[in-house]
Amino acid sequence: MRLSGNCKIRCKLILLTTALVTAAHLSTGFFIAAHTDRALHNEQDHQASATAKNLARLCAAPLLDEDLLALRDLIRSTMEQGRFTRAMIIDNDGKVLMHNDIALVGYMVADHRFRLAAISATPLISPHYYDKTGDLIADVSAPVMVADKRIATVMISCSHQAISAAAADLRRHILTIMAIGIAAGIVCAVLLAAYITAPLRELIHSAGVIAEGTFTGVRLPAKGNDEIAILTRTFNKMIEKIERMVCTDLLTGVANRLMFQRRLTEEFSRSLRHQRPLALLMIDVDYFKAVNDLHGHQVGDSVLQEIASLLSRSVRAGDFVARYGGEEFAVIAPDTGAPTAAILAERIRHNVAEHPFPIKTAGAAPGLARLLNNPIHRLTVSVGVANLAEPIDSEDKLIETADLLLLAAKRDGRNRVSAAAGPATGATPPPGTEAQDRLFPTTS
Ligand code: GH3
Ligand code: MG
Ligand code: MG
Repeated sequence: MRLSGNCKIRCKLILLTTALVTAAHLSTGFFIAAHTDRALHNEQDHQASATAKNLARLCAAPLLDEDLLALRDLIRSTMEQGRFTRAMIIDNDGKVLMHNDIALVGYMVADHRFRLAAISATPLISPHYYDKTGDLIADVSAPVMVADKRIATVMISCSHQAISAAAADLRRHILTIMAIGIAAGIVCAVLLAAYITAPLRELIHSAGVIAEGTFTGVRLPAKGNDEIAILTRTFNKMIEKIERMVCTDLLTGVANRLMFQRRLTEEFSRSLRHQRPLALLMIDVDYFKAVNDLHGHQVGDSVLQEIASLLSRSVRAGDFVARYGGEEFAVIAPDTGAPTAAILAERIRHNVAEHPFPIKTAGAAPGLARLLNNPIHRLTVSVGVANLAEPIDSEDKLIETADLLLLAAKRDGRNRVSAAAGPATGATPPPGTEAQDRLFPTTS
């Protein structure tokens, strides 16, 4: 059976699970990286803003006193505090009053960043930009206020390079963890696909075996209580039912003709292989038509059930009873030579002949009063016994031989066994009696 459909499910499961795991990892990883990056930069800006505000507060007095030394010291101590690349104090016209680079004191600043800072009444943080050295910078400014009047502006430039490096490092770590997570996800996907598809493959295989016509031994292991286990158990139950329906004779419950043929083929080749004896018994109920004619088909059916049950009880554990068709049964007796087979056949014949068949009288034809008043009736069978011996070289030949011997038993008067070797054995038929009289020798 082709498993391409099943393989497709496996591939789909692996792809889908891998895609899900990858998407979950990527979105989570990128969210964490972006969020952490933003948080670190915001924290840096926040600290720089606090430093600028503090510097603006501290330099108000030295500016009023025009104490340049104090301003220089304030700038120096600010530069020592953090990752600052520049700190300066500018008057309202843009002239640098103090700078960490003393050489720039007195220069005019007129760029857009200063113009924005100079008109803002609150501390201002500029967008981040790369300076000439490639450093990522944010300018932070704060007004120097004296009696609600702006006398200068403090501007400090803060480097974000270290934070960018730390964020890049974090991203690398996240990527590594993501790669490991995705690899683990792929492994899980493969295992999950195998977990789901392995029982499906077994189901497909078993369904294929059943489609070929084999039922016996087709059972699947069902562990746990998940959906697959339930499906497997249901499948097993279904096979049991189908097996019963296909292999069992519905009326009598013994094996049907199909199973008989199969079993005979198996036993025949086994016997040939191991050079073991094999016997086949063909059993036909004598004058059975009369049971139907006299009591109706339902009674006939229950008699057939009774005979099947009697046969099953009369054979050994390894023997195989089947309904060959109509009121004819067969017994396959492996490892059974001709003498033992004849004894077995005789036992069957005897058991049936001695068995009281209680026949229900309700609804029977009124003309049968004699029988109806007598609930116990006797039936007999004729048996043909064939054995695996020259010139039998096929199971068909074995059946044919058993059939011919059964016919001989019938011809010889019924209620007897006709075996390949030796004369027929059995009860002597009452001479000159009518079929019906022979059919129901009654017991009181
Ligand atoms: P003989 O001794 O020669 O075997 O006589 P017989 O009457 O047993 O044989 P015959 O072949 O004339 O009749 C067989 C009868 O078995 C006819 C048929 O209606 C009956 N029969 C076959 N199958 C079933 C069944 O499933 N149920 C019932 N009730 N009768 C069946
Ligand atoms: Mg018959
Ligand atoms: Mg018959």
